[in-house]
Amino acid sequence: MEPTRTEFLHLPEWQKTLFYVLVFASLAIGAWQIWLRYREWRKGKPIDWKPPRLKNFLTYVLAQRKVRSSRRRSGAPMHLLIFYGFVSLFLATTLLAIATYAPLIGIPNFHRGTYYLIYEATFDLLGLLFVFGLIWALVRRLAYRPAAVTSNSSDVWMLVLLIVVGVTGYVLEAARIANDPQPFDGASVVGYSMALILPPVSNGAYVAIWWFHMAWVFVFFAVIPRFRLRHIVIACFGAANAPTGRPWGRLEPITMEEVEQTGQIGVAHAKDYSRWHLMSLDACMECGRCTEVCPAHGVGKVLNPKQVVQDIRGIPREDGPTVAEAVSEEALWACTTCNACVEACPVLIRHVDLIVDVRRNLVAEGRLSGTAAVMLRQAASTGSAWGTPASDREDWMKGLDVPLARDKKSFDVLLWVGCAGATDPGAIKTTRAVAELLTSAGIDFACLGNEESCTGDVARRVGDEFLFQEQAQRNVGTFGKYEFKRIVTPCPHCFNTFANEYGQFGGEYQVLHHSRLLADLVAEGRLRAPDLLQGAVTFHDPCYLARINNQSDAPRRALGESSDMDKAIVPTDPDGRLAEPAHFGRKTLCCGAGGGRMFMEEPIEQRPGNRRARELLDTGARTIAVGCPFCRIMLDASLKQVTEEEVRLVDLAEMLQESNRAPADAGQITS
Ligand code: SF4
Ligand code: SF4
Repeated sequence: MEPTRTEFLHLPEWQKTLFYVLVFASLAIGAWQIWLRYREWRKGKPIDWKPPRLKNFLTYVLAQRKVRSSRRRSGAPMHLLIFYGFVSLFLATTLLAIATYAPLIGIPNFHRGTYYLIYEATFDLLGLLFVFGLIWALVRRLAYRPAAVTSNSSDVWMLVLLIVVGVTGYVLEAARIANDPQPFDGASVVGYSMALILPPVSNGAYVAIWWFHMAWVFVFFAVIPRFRLRHIVIACFGAANAPTGRPWGRLEPITMEEVEQTGQIGVAHAKDYSRWHLMSLDACMECGRCTEVCPAHGVGKVLNPKQVVQDIRGIPREDGPTVAEAVSEEALWACTTCNACVEACPVLIRHVDLIVDVRRNLVAEGRLSGTAAVMLRQAASTGSAWGTPASDREDWMKGLDVPLARDKKSFDVLLWVGCAGATDPGAIKTTRAVAELLTSAGIDFACLGNEESCTGDVARRVGDEFLFQEQAQRNVGTFGKYEFKRIVTPCPHCFNTFANEYGQFGGEYQVLHHSRLLADLVAEGRLRAPDLLQGAVTFHDPCYLARINNQSDAPRRALGESSDMDKAIVPTDPDGRLAEPAHFGRKTLCCGAGGGRMFMEEPIEQRPGNRRARELLDTGARTIAVGCPFCRIMLDASLKQVTEEEVRLVDLAEMLQESNRAPADAGQITS
C-alpha cells in the first residue's frame, strides 16, 4: 500500500462544510481587524521611499537578522525556535492544502509515497521546535522574565493557546495512528511514539479530538490581531517596507513646501507620521529590548523607548492628544539619539525618527528653553555650537605650521576640525595631534580655519531642522571653493553628518574618521602604533562611529590591534591588548552627549556618562582612549564623579602622537 493519509478522516460531509465555514469566518475576523488597523495607518503621510521589499523580507523576517544579533541569551534562541517552528507548521499546512485541492485543477494529489514519508518525518520533528520554544517562553515569562519585558494575563493566555494548538496537533496525529494504524506510521516520529501509549481510538473519539484541535486553531486566527501576537503578521509588512536604504545616521529633511502645505513643522499629532511609522508601531512585540539598551533609561530618566512606542500607538488618530502630551516632553528631550534602541529592535522601529520629528515641532513652537536653546541661538549667530566667533577658529593652531585651504586651494585631505576641536581644551589636544601626525606622515592636507562653521549636527538632532539646513548649505558652498579628495575629521558627529546627510544638499564627499586614516598610515608603515601593555588601555566606541556607521575596527587598528570588529559582538582577537568593556563595538554604551544632550542640564546622578565611566573602569584599565570630542567631554566630567583614582583620558590620536614622537625603543605606552 502506498504511504499516504486520508484528510477529513471519518468526517461526514456536513462537518466538512462546517469546517470550511468556520475556517473562513475565523480568518475573516482576523483579516477584518488587520484592515481596521490598516485604515489607521492610512491616516499617516504616504511614504516617499522605495523599500527593497524582498530583500528586507528575506533578511529581517526569514533570516531573523535582528533577533540573531540580540544580546539576550535566552530570548533570542527561544524566539528563533518559535519562529522557525511556526514557519515550518505554516509551510506544512500550505503544502497539505495544495496537495488536497490540486485534483480540482486536474493535478493528482501528491501527498503520497516517498514525498509523504519525507513530509511526515520532517514536519513532525520541526513542530517540536514550536512547542518547545513556546514552553520555554511560558516558563521564562512566569519564572525569570527580564525586567524590560512587560507581561499581562493576555500574554500568558496567548502562549497557552499556542501550546494547546501545538500539543493537540500531535495528539490528533497520535489518535489517527491509533484509530487507523498503517505500516508506514513510524515516519511520523512524535505522533507514532505517542500512539504507542494510547488505547485504541474509536471513530467518534477521533472526530471529537479533530474538532477540539480545530477549535483552538479557529480561535488563534480570530484573535491574533488583538494581542501582541499581531507582530507575526504586521512585522512582515513593517520589515518589508522599512526604509532600510536610509542609514540610521540620516534624518529625513523637511521642505518649505511641506511646511506651507501643512502649516506646521515636524510632528504634532500621531497622524503626522508616515504610514510606515504608524504601521511599525503596531508591529511592536513589547519585548523591551529597546528599553534594556537605552542609556537614558539606564540611569533612571523618564525616557523608555518601548513606552514611547506604546504611548504613540495608543493615541487616537482623530482628536487625540499631541504626541508630546502623550509621551511627555521630558522623555522626548532625554534622548541622546544613540540609536541603541533602533539597533536592538527586531521589528525595525525607528525610535529616533519618532522622537526627533516631535522635537522639530516643539522647537518650532518655542518649547525648547534653557541651555540648549542658548546653544541654538549661538550656533545661528556665530557658526559654532560653543558660541565662539569665527575669528577664534584658528587659535588651536598656535605654534604649529598648519596649512590653510585659502592658501593652498587644492590638496588631498581637508582636515575638518569641528566646533569642539577648535574650542574645547581637551579636544584641541586631539586636533593638534592629528595635524602633527598628518604632517609627519607627509599627507597633503589643509584646514578651513575661520571659514569652518558648525556642521549643524546638533541643531538637526535637537530639532532645529532649518538651522541645520542653513549650516549644511553654507558648508557645501565653502567646500565648493576648494579641490580636495577626502574629508578627515576627529569628530564622529561631523563625520556622520558629512557622510550621511550632506548628500541631501548636493554635498557628496569621501569622508573618513581620523581613526581610519591613522589606521591606514599605521598599516602602510608611515606611522608607528602605540605599544600597549596588556589590559592597561581600554577604548570607548562612540555611538556615531561604531553603531551608527559600523566602524569599530579602524580605532583598534590605529592602536595596533588586528581584530576585525566592525560586525563583532564578542572580541575577535584573543591576543588583543586592549581591555574591552562590557559594551563595545556596535553594542557600545552611550556617553550621553548626542542629540544635543551635551548642551542640556541634567542631575549629576542621571548622567549616562557616569554609568559608562564605571564600566570602562571595571575593565581594570586606567587609560581610556576615545575617538570623539563629545565623548571625551562627557567622560571627563563623569570620571571626576565616579572615581578619585588617577585615570588618563586621551584621544587615540594623542597616543599615536606620543608613539611617533618617542624613539622606537621608548618602551610601552600605557598611561
Ligand atoms: S536613541 Fe538612545 S537615548 Fe534615544 S531612546 Fe533610543 S536608546 Fe534611548
Ligand atoms: S520597540 Fe522594538 S525593541 Fe522595543 S519593545 Fe517594541 S519590538 Fe521590542
